[in-house]
Amino acid sequence: MSEVCSNMRPPQSNGDLSFINTTQTQWRDVPQETIKYAPKEETILLSGGLTILQDKLIQSALQSLGENYISIPNPDFESFQKGKAFGNRGQCNPTYFTVGNLVKYLQKLRDEKGLSSEEIVRKYVYITAGGCGPCRFGMYITEYKKALRDAGFDGLRITSFDHDKGIFQGDEIDDGILNFTPHFFITLTKAVIIGDIMNILGYKMRPYEVEVGSVDAAMKQCEDLVSEAFLEKKSLVKTLWKCRRVLEEVKLDRLQPKAKVMVMGEFWAAMTEGDGNYNLHRFLESEGAECIPQPIINRLLLNLWEAERAVHKRENLQVEDANKIDFSSVKTRVLIKLGKAAIKTHFALYAKAIGLHDYEIPDMDKLARLGQEYYTLDCDGGEGHLEVAHLIESVKENISHLVISVKPFGCMPSSSVSDGVQSLVTSRFPEANFLAIETSGEGAANFYSRVQMALFKAKQSAKEEFENLTLPEEIPDRIHNYLYQPKSEKAGTASQLVASLEERRL
Ligand code: SF4
Repeated sequence: MSEVCSNMRPPQSNGDLSFINTTQTQWRDVPQETIKYAPKEETILLSGGLTILQDKLIQSALQSLGENYISIPNPDFESFQKGKAFGNRGQCNPTYFTVGNLVKYLQKLRDEKGLSSEEIVRKYVYITAGGCGPCRFGMYITEYKKALRDAGFDGLRITSFDHDKGIFQGDEIDDGILNFTPHFFITLTKAVIIGDIMNILGYKMRPYEVEVGSVDAAMKQCEDLVSEAFLEKKSLVKTLWKCRRVLEEVKLDRLQPKAKVMVMGEFWAAMTEGDGNYNLHRFLESEGAECIPQPIINRLLLNLWEAERAVHKRENLQVEDANKIDFSSVKTRVLIKLGKAAIKTHFALYAKAIGLHDYEIPDMDKLARLGQEYYTLDCDGGEGHLEVAHLIESVKENISHLVISVKPFGCMPSSSVSDGVQSLVTSRFPEANFLAIETSGEGAANFYSRVQMALFKAKQSAKEEFENLTLPEEIPDRIHNYLYQPKSEKAGTASQLVASLEERRL
């Protein structure tokens, strides 16, 4: 903020309203004093905000490249309160959680580790996601800067990956400090993909563990193995093969008819594993459900799909105006195809190694066909048509017993889809068990009680589905091995397993 900007509350003056009648000036994202930033060898990169496992794997992956990088811990309620205290009014819930989480981390460095604010500002750089779109996403950097200034860290450098245009929004960082080479992005993507695969397996196994905590303990062992493989540059495929042995040791009882619940909605709110969505995934598991999470690669594939569509549209315009053919789109098209192929190949390779056999990478063209009648395909920058498409796909292909869409308080795009467009979808697919639920950071009791109500119906559906099948007299042991993942038209895991035995008898 510029020194003369008078239309914002100055730091340390809560309750002082004298600024209201002063002449309004313009917000500027520049620190009040010139700062001499630390050289690369003293600079520490901070980021975070994906799932807990992914944040840890990314830290190991980037440290293996020699980056001085730290993933900051998952946001919690305290982060949210700090976001509210130092942020602008009327922000969406993910903004408060993520902005407040950075403030909380820096305050801990200052108050518990004894670093001065000046030293923190000089040495740390925060990397976040940025972008455009019909929401506050494009304003995140400004929000961070405003909160940091008010919290006493004015001038801390922030930069972002713009999800659809490459780098950057935010501060210009001196050459050499950020090493965003193709190798950097490939390593980062590998960590994200492995994290997705392990998360999917964790959610498939945890509800059926015989000994409480055994899946988490096995996953922790796998996380350590993969982190070590990144740091010591060992083969990731061989390491994931080792993880398979660790996971096979976990005793499961998979013939329990549990409701399968797809969790989707606004990207951050649906993906985070903590107070940001009231620990929704763990709550569902404690209530006897199995979750289908949304992997991060969905979002990567959506971004590539949107980029490809934009190229298509540009090329069509050029055909109409045939004198101006731009061959640069050929290069873009090739890069997009390579990007898609790399994600899919790595996912398939790693999934096979650790033993995730039945997961199909989302088909973005199919999802676009499903969603286009209800939501324009031209609106990118968020989940776009995906939320609608996931619900329709779940109903048509019997993927889950309940679909929960998490919409953050204060999020207009998410609310307009979850409350507006999805009402039309559910009226056309009355068999859908769909719950759009708001996360405000507070009001957990109301949130949980609404989830429980929708879950009651889902549990009944899962039970009925299971009871309509005939259990064979002899149950083979392989049923309880996580590696046995038969394809089936049933939604529930237990029903899928029994149906697969029936099919083999016929
Ligand atoms: S989609 Fe909604 S919740 Fe997410 S950043 Fe945009 S406004 Fe905030």
